[in-house]
Amino acid sequence: QGDTGDFDREVASICPFCGVGCQVSLKIKDEKVKFVEGINGPANEGRLCVKGRFGFDYIHHDHRLTTPLIRRADAPAKGLNVDPGNWQTHFRAASWDEALDAAANGLNAIGGTGVAGFGSAKCSNEEAYLFQKLIRQGFGHNNVDHCTRLCHASSVAALMENVGSGAVTATFNEIENADVAIVIGANPIENHPVAATYFKQFAKRGGKLIVMDPRGQALKRFASHMLQFRPGADVSMLNAIMHVIVAEKLYDQQYIDAYTENWEAEKAHLADFAPEKMTGICGIDAEVLRDVARTFASAKSAMIFWGMGVSQHIHGTDNSRCLISLALMTGQVGRPGAGLHPLRGQNNVQGASDAGLIPMFLPDYQPVGDADVRTTFQEIWQDGGVHPDKGLTVTEILDAVHAGDIRGMYISGENPAMSDPDVDHARAALAKLDHLVVQDIFLTETANFADVILPASAFAEKNGTVTNTNRQVQMGRAALAPPGAAREDWWITVELAKRLGLRWSYSHPRDVFAEMTQVMPSLANITWDRLAAENAVTYPSLSPTDPGQPIVFADGFPRAGGRAKFTPANVIAPDEVPDADYPMILTTGRQLEHWHTGSMTRRSKVLDAVEPEANCSLHPATLRALGAQPGDMIRLTTRRGSIDIMARADRAVAPDMVFVPFAYVEAAANTLTNPAIDPYGKIPEFKFAAVRIEKIADQ
Ligand code: SF4
Repeated sequence: QGDTGDFDREVASICPFCGVGCQVSLKIKDEKVKFVEGINGPANEGRLCVKGRFGFDYIHHDHRLTTPLIRRADAPAKGLNVDPGNWQTHFRAASWDEALDAAANGLNAIGGTGVAGFGSAKCSNEEAYLFQKLIRQGFGHNNVDHCTRLCHASSVAALMENVGSGAVTATFNEIENADVAIVIGANPIENHPVAATYFKQFAKRGGKLIVMDPRGQALKRFASHMLQFRPGADVSMLNAIMHVIVAEKLYDQQYIDAYTENWEAEKAHLADFAPEKMTGICGIDAEVLRDVARTFASAKSAMIFWGMGVSQHIHGTDNSRCLISLALMTGQVGRPGAGLHPLRGQNNVQGASDAGLIPMFLPDYQPVGDADVRTTFQEIWQDGGVHPDKGLTVTEILDAVHAGDIRGMYISGENPAMSDPDVDHARAALAKLDHLVVQDIFLTETANFADVILPASAFAEKNGTVTNTNRQVQMGRAALAPPGAAREDWWITVELAKRLGLRWSYSHPRDVFAEMTQVMPSLANITWDRLAAENAVTYPSLSPTDPGQPIVFADGFPRAGGRAKFTPANVIAPDEVPDADYPMILTTGRQLEHWHTGSMTRRSKVLDAVEPEANCSLHPATLRALGAQPGDMIRLTTRRGSIDIMARADRAVAPDMVFVPFAYVEAAANTLTNPAIDPYGKIPEFKFAAVRIEKIADQ
């Protein structure tokens, strides 16, 4: 209980939007969140961005689901055709028992590999853990995935391969101990705004900030170098930089000898990437590439941050391999101010991945194919074994629906009807399912296709832990009861599991966390009670009183032999290059005010007032050539489909590009995107497609 002058009580919790994981204090008045303040968490030290400060009122929106729903027998054909304020045309209200029975019976009737699950990076660690356990135990296979497949799967693939761990090697706050930092394929001022404040402070105190992005961005004002390279040309640019480091012998031979393998192969591979040769591909002057190489290699301590501009390509894993190689050859891992940091997107995408919402790994990235690992889980889980085969990923699951191999799905807190590439293909798959159970707080685009809808809880209504981009496990606390008959997600998954015949007996998320600590070595020395008392503990924590290690791998890597690996990367063109029919480049991303598919932020008054309308950005010269003005509607067309959208002029966008945010259902960017995937991380190429742009006549 806090000051009751202006509010009735205050409750400490975690911001539900991005992976920075800012700690917040929710001020409650008359059983509503009245306002939010930042508190002194390890990642935010009291700071918040516009989403954390003003984006909370969606939890009180009229569209909240307050009762379980079952599709009416006389409902219109499945499609994107439900008004969330008038769902009675398609659904009827049901009791929890009726809805849970219907959900379980429908999935059970299909059973086995005919059922797949998408869990959520917006739910807690405990909820993610229960979700993957339900699919694995309840249906006997590993067809369970979540949105990590759409954001950093390729980064994780490269990190697992070459470093032996998928998480960051240093917190982003470590930048305060660095003297050089690269930010590539990330736009932190828009997407990780509180992290960006640390980056700006770093630059203001004299740190050299090297920003690499095909699109200009506001961090450019703080940058010592701004490399606006050609979209998709990351590998040529990074290999050229590393070529210079090799040619000028700027690498750290001592570190390489002590902690790495495959250096000679990497060195030989880089011989072909002289800056003069790569300039034509990446569009960056050879002297600039040399200067960046010297600046990075001569740093006492340097960090590399990257985002989805790196990962969302068919060569996303290769992009990350280059960044890892750059850090390894210069010995920039495992020390204060040094490290590799993929900036994680969703608030709990790190935790959901750690908890096993991945088709190839059990919790803590333990391979499903390892018999000893499976035995450990089977002993603790009871009720049947773990299947040894890797499951299908997000896009593979939807392909399997089209092929008729998957007929039932359980989707919690994910919105593939908006978030998947070639979204008409994803929507057609959802419509084709014989039985779809959706658990969410709103009647999302995906819930439009559901047979049963289970009303869930918002972050302010649930207890549970979440893990941010820094590996900080933090305690979220319920400040309010869920509205109407809505329930906490963990409760819903447990009730469903019981109806699938699983002997689960959890009565609180702390029971789930206790089980997680038995199977997840990363959680050693971290307990529910500790988190309740301390709010956050960084993993790994070396003792019951250690707040955790912000920097890892000072003395080697969790790979065979303790060495990290260089994996050479070749230049691979994007899957779909511009041509006469589709002459421009489409790229997609987020905006500061809107979060992912917009289900929450477009229902937040302040955020929606700032950005109320679907929009895309083009260079002013491109708009002029079209004969269009800022504010005009234009049509964007790719081989997948067309959208009509309002155009903005933005000099940060190259003249041959268009940038489209993906939060707007009325002009869904993913109508246009290319579903081609990276062969290792299986991540789609959201950041590059060939597009045609036309002005719409008669406006
Ligand atoms: Fe929330 Fe991220 Fe903003 Fe922090 S930076 S307030 S976690 S959206």
